[in-house]
Amino acid sequence: PIDPITENYVRQVKDACFSKIKPTPLQNPRMAVYSKQAMDLLDLDEHQLERKEAPEYLSGNLLMPGSETAAHCYCGHQFGVFAGQLGDGAAIYLGEVINRKNERWEIQLKGAGLTPYSRSADGRKVLRSTLREFMCSEAMHFLGVPTTRAGSCVVSDSKVVRDIFYDGNPRMERCAAVLRIAPTFIRFGSFEIFRPVDPDYGNKGPSFGRNDILIKMLDYVSDTFYSHIKLDNPHEKYEQVFKEIVLRTARLVAEWQSIGWVHGVLNTDNMSIMGLTIDYGPFGFLDRYDPDHIFNGSDTAGRYTYRNQVDICEWNCIKLAEALSPVLDLNQLKDFVKKNFKSEFDRVYMDKMRKKFGLLSTKPSDSDLFKKFFDVMYETGADFTNSFRKLSLLKFSLDKTEMNMSEFLNLLIKECASIDDMRSFFKPKMPKETLDKLHAAAEENPGILEYFGLSEVFLRNQLKFIEKYEKLKDKTNEEKKKIDTELWSSWLHEYSNRIKEDFDVQSLNFDVNMSERIKMMNSNNPRFILRNHIVQEAIEKAEKNDFTEAKMLLKILENAFSEEPIENILNNFDSEAVKEKSASR
Ligand code: AMP
Ligand code: MG
Ligand code: MG
Repeated sequence: PIDPITENYVRQVKDACFSKIKPTPLQNPRMAVYSKQAMDLLDLDEHQLERKEAPEYLSGNLLMPGSETAAHCYCGHQFGVFAGQLGDGAAIYLGEVINRKNERWEIQLKGAGLTPYSRSADGRKVLRSTLREFMCSEAMHFLGVPTTRAGSCVVSDSKVVRDIFYDGNPRMERCAAVLRIAPTFIRFGSFEIFRPVDPDYGNKGPSFGRNDILIKMLDYVSDTFYSHIKLDNPHEKYEQVFKEIVLRTARLVAEWQSIGWVHGVLNTDNMSIMGLTIDYGPFGFLDRYDPDHIFNGSDTAGRYTYRNQVDICEWNCIKLAEALSPVLDLNQLKDFVKKNFKSEFDRVYMDKMRKKFGLLSTKPSDSDLFKKFFDVMYETGADFTNSFRKLSLLKFSLDKTEMNMSEFLNLLIKECASIDDMRSFFKPKMPKETLDKLHAAAEENPGILEYFGLSEVFLRNQLKFIEKYEKLKDKTNEEKKKIDTELWSSWLHEYSNRIKEDFDVQSLNFDVNMSERIKMMNSNNPRFILRNHIVQEAIEKAEKNDFTEAKMLLKILENAFSEEPIENILNNFDSEAVKEKSASR
């Protein structure tokens, strides 16, 4: 037997896709929160999950019968550069469950301890990141976005260090584990272990040359997850699978754009071959709309922003094509991406946007109307989610001319940031002179920005901020409100005309039309999203072993589109806690 401590950890793994490894036990695991609906996929009910040994199984301390645990070997392009072998460094594959409906689900435990792929890290996850992953996975599912699921979040008394206090003392944090559920966790990066020599970096994957294994993987993926593709010629079949992955990826990022969600680490190892949202590390929903907001502290170049993530997903598809090039024709695959990714994205995005804006017909001018809405949100500092959600409150009367325009306008203005918020948001991080000097220095020596942990994007953003700040500097709240009102009225004017046109072309009964329209809007514009300060509250309480807040939050996220009062959504919870919650909103 291999001694795990001395031999099995942290090494290059050649010519294999999985390494056998057992989870390392966690001390005194306790259930923080579980998702009934995700656990239902595994035929696990509340009765079983409330049993005292449940956290033992969901922490990896006990293994379920038949479970043969392993860590998956994958590579990846990190921030645009091929990084070689990465692999499951903290997650461990527990096995697969075929449920009563005959669906097959892979389960894995994240935070399960060291694996051969842990590199210099410890294989653990702290409660903070675990609860965030748990909540957002489930939130995305209930928003209708394809995603891996989260079954449970278990906390323990095992501790690790993530941050060091200013006084030099380590901050100990409790370890936690999340049970993740998906048809498969195979990623683009899973195929990059076969990657040929990189023309720019000269690196190749650790299993480059093993076309036999690559074909086995392709067969496995095709026959298990894309079994609806019935093609006898294996190469045609693999190519068809690739095409579907590309299209699913385009549709996925269209969903993200439509709800203002940003994946902060779109490295190729975080791209699912099922077109699912995977690996919730740094991520976030835009609140005040800023397409350049960076959610990942280590992404100094702003590679993974709302604005960039569509192009990044397309770029990642090209990397997948390159990984498959030992057995498929690279140019053909690339051609497919170039011809189809953007158009599929546009199709799904525009369709989604029309539903969000409550449009029943299609007009060529629609994309301008949508773009202008985004511009006004940006200029006024309006909240992404709430501005969309409020659109369904614009009312019409039967003669289609009378609308509650001024009342509605006020609702939108309420979503705009105050002048103080705007000023602190746009406050430049350095004076213009410093920026100019940096710019000049970077022209001579491009490495200088990286040396200071800065980037072109940062400089550009700062210039934009200075410009905005100068404009806002001496304004009063009243003056800002006046500008906001002008901007929103102008957009509203276009929007209301567009809707009137819509009603003219529709020959349907007006009232039916109207209520259908509102239903469509409210089921595409969420009311509840996972806001940072809200998940933070749940985390802080959970750190003190109070999991009620986390449970209530999950319940609210499960009802993301609901029109019910919060009290009704939370009707199963203790009334004091609920009162506190609705008062804080
Ligand atoms: P990510 O940025 O989360 O996609 O992770 C990149 C790589 O680092 C993956 O191979 C992860 O498995 C690995 N990794 C992340 N966190 C840890 C950890 N705490 N211990 C070991 N490996 C980790
Ligand atoms: Mg990852
Ligand atoms: Mg991660």
